[in-house]
Order: sequence, then structure tokens, then C-alpha cells
Amino acid sequence: MKRAMRLSGGNFPQLWHRTGPSGYDNIADIRSRPHHVLMNDSSNPCCCPSLPDLTGVPMGGDGLDERVFATVENVVDHGGDAWWLHLSQCRACGQHWMIAQEERIFDEHFLRRLTVDEANRIFMSAEWPVEFLSYERVLKTGHALRIRPCVFLDRHSPSLVWTVEDLRKERPDISVDEIALLLGVTATQTKRLLAAASSGKGSWWQRMRHRLGL
Ligand SMILES: [Zn+2]
Repeated sequence: MKRAMRLSGGNFPQLWHRTGPSGYDNIADIRSRPHHVLMNDSSNPCCCPSLPDLTGVPMGGDGLDERVFATVENVVDHGGDAWWLHLSQCRACGQHWMIAQEERIFDEHFLRRLTVDEANRIFMSAEWPVEFLSYERVLKTGHALRIRPCVFLDRHSPSLVWTVEDLRKERPDISVDEIALLLGVTATQTKRLLAAASSGKGSWWQRMRHRLGL
């Protein structure tokens, strides 16, 4: 399972870090982010009641993801081009969540609470709410939640190249400045990433090697 692989670090070989004021990964800083609920009240069997309706859960970090996903499980994968999109349900309370697994730029799961009707529409007719249907929308969600994009030590990281490719594929007229903003990089770097994407550095084989940690 992808999430377990991420926790083991096996498919994420490139070095990166979040930059705080000190330039180091700073747990106190992560904890200060208001949209993150830190502790699951021990009287609750799950985290659902304490989570906002739209929130980000960091992969790794302070372990919130382990607490949330101890009871929240995928029940439907969108599949196709929207590989990041899942319908999940909490085993403990029955709450449905729509989840975008954003493992490239923010390294977060984005969760949107669903009503029973919304979950049923996904089950019955594959009708998904629009919020996470494109990668651009997913990245905009991260910015709306005021989460900082990861800073990559490898300026041509495959994660950046593939994201540039996908954003251009989804919306061919997206501008360099718009992509730069979404990725949290400069326009100059974005132009280099676009050049790398068109030269095939984001090829299928490179993706496979990256996923396998080769
Ligand atoms: Zn729950």
C-alpha cells in the first residue's frame, strides 16, 4: 500500500525538507498550524469529530496520519488519471471522507468530510465532488489551507517534473507564473522544469524507478 511505503521511506529517495524560520524541519512549527488537530481525545474511538470539514494531514511528521488512518480506510479509488483520489470511511464512526493523497508537493493527505448523500453518489454513479478532481485543485487546496510546499534539494526532482507535466496536461494554457505559485518555486525554476518535462525526464521508466526507490 502506498501509504505504508511512504512511511518506510522506500519510494521517496530524494532529499527534501520543510523550511521553517531556522531552515530545519520544525515540529513545533508544524504543530502551530491551526488546521491540524493534534491529539485524539482518548474518549473518542477515532479522530473524525475533532477534524475540520476540510483539512490536511501530513504524511509522517507528528503521527497524526497514523492516528487518523488507524480507523479511516479507503473504500473506493477514483482510479484513471485521478490516481490521488479516494473515498474513505471510518470504521469506528461511519464518517465518509474524500481524500486526496498529495505526495509530491505538500506531502499531505487532504481530507474533505462528506455527507451520506455525497458518499452515495460516488458509490452509485461515480459522481465525485469537484474539489480534488484535478491536480491543480488539489494543490490549490494545500495553499488555501496555508500549508507550505516542500522545498526540494534536488531542483529537478521527479516529483516537480511530473507535477508540471500533469498541470500542463490538465490545462494546456496554464501560465508559468501559475505553475510556479502552485509548486512554491520561482518562475525561472518552473521554466527549467518545463524544459525537463518536454525532454522526457518525467518518462514512465523514470516514474517506475522512482516508485521502486531505484
Ligand atoms: Zn470516525
